[in-house]
Amino acid sequence: MFNREDYISDSDWNRFKEFSKDLETPNVVINLHQIKYNFIKLRDSFPYAHIYYAVKANPGEPVLRLLNELGSNFDIASRYELDKVLALGVSGERISFGNTIKKARDIEYFYQNGVRMFARMLVEAGQSADWPLSRKFGCHPDMAYDLLVQARDLGLTPYGVSFHVGSQQRDIGIWNEAIAKATYLFSSLEEEEGIKLSMINMGGGFPAHYIQPTNPLSDYASEITRYLHDDFGDDVPMIILEPGRSLVGDCGILTSEIVLISRKNNTALQRWVYQDSGKFNGLVETMDESIKYPVVSDKDAVGEKEGEVILAGPTCDSADIMYENIKYKLPLSLKAGDKLYWLSTGAYTGTYASVEFNGFPPIKTYYME
Ligand SMILES: *Cc1c(COP(=O)(O)O)cnc(C)c1O
Repeated sequence: MFNREDYISDSDWNRFKEFSKDLETPNVVINLHQIKYNFIKLRDSFPYAHIYYAVKANPGEPVLRLLNELGSNFDIASRYELDKVLALGVSGERISFGNTIKKARDIEYFYQNGVRMFARMLVEAGQSADWPLSRKFGCHPDMAYDLLVQARDLGLTPYGVSFHVGSQQRDIGIWNEAIAKATYLFSSLEEEEGIKLSMINMGGGFPAHYIQPTNPLSDYASEITRYLHDDFGDDVPMIILEPGRSLVGDCGILTSEIVLISRKNNTALQRWVYQDSGKFNGLVETMDESIKYPVVSDKDAVGEKEGEVILAGPTCDSADIMYENIKYKLPLSLKAGDKLYWLSTGAYTGTYASVEFNGFPPIKTYYME
């Protein structure tokens, strides 16, 4: 159904196959070299922006070390992530506490550790983000206005505004709307209150390579840069980006083993393919079939007959089904014991999981240089 070559080069694939051949399944293998490539590409596409890697996308220590060496800053979701990043020697001024749901004592803890950036404005992710991240977070611009005035009155420094347009955002125009709202806040606060904001945190949302097509990163960069100049002219404020998925998503392969293949009656056209990873150990973003990963096997070959499958995980829970409505097709020759390779699984897999549901341990992650 999928051409592996469309997602990963022969040389990276061969390196992965060699690296992973004796690893127990299920597992995720992360290609650090490719993360480096993605980081440099993003940095070069937005040379004026400060990059804060969203740690939650993949908090593996080798990933954090690499990005630290490359000069990335970090967007942190909790004090536990903070401790992890501080332990690598990253100082507080390179950290943003982006999660909007914060305990007061955690804010204090971050502050004591030198973190000075805390914040989100509500924007509509529309139908075009595969993982919306909106609605729950942030506030309307009018309320942001009031809060920034109140912050000034309390003796704080209103520094800027943050938004997140939704993860895997496939409509670049959404940034235009969000930037317009930020522009309104900048100009009205300055004109009416004399508050001069200096920063826009545009969050994440840049895409990884899944099944549904997206524009290339260069288009995101040129369009977003144009929106900024249209609104701010030559006086563009400091820009922060918080990429997660776009840096690490393409850099992982999740390998599972098929446990059982069955048909529910003698004439059923669809096979149920049960495998040893599922919603609770690595593939939670298949919830509502939102993120559609390409899946390949060792039996994919030109001319190989394929048939429709329902892909399900290993637990005794009927929610543990990855794809049923979207019709995936896999080779008819697949058997129990064969492996499936879930491509582009470097983001939101390894730690986005339950702990020991049905006794299954969390999925193991390995890092390939
Ligand atoms: C999750 C998150 C991100 C990362 O989003 P991606 O779409 O994975 O790039 C960035 N900023 C904040 C505040 C987040 O919560």
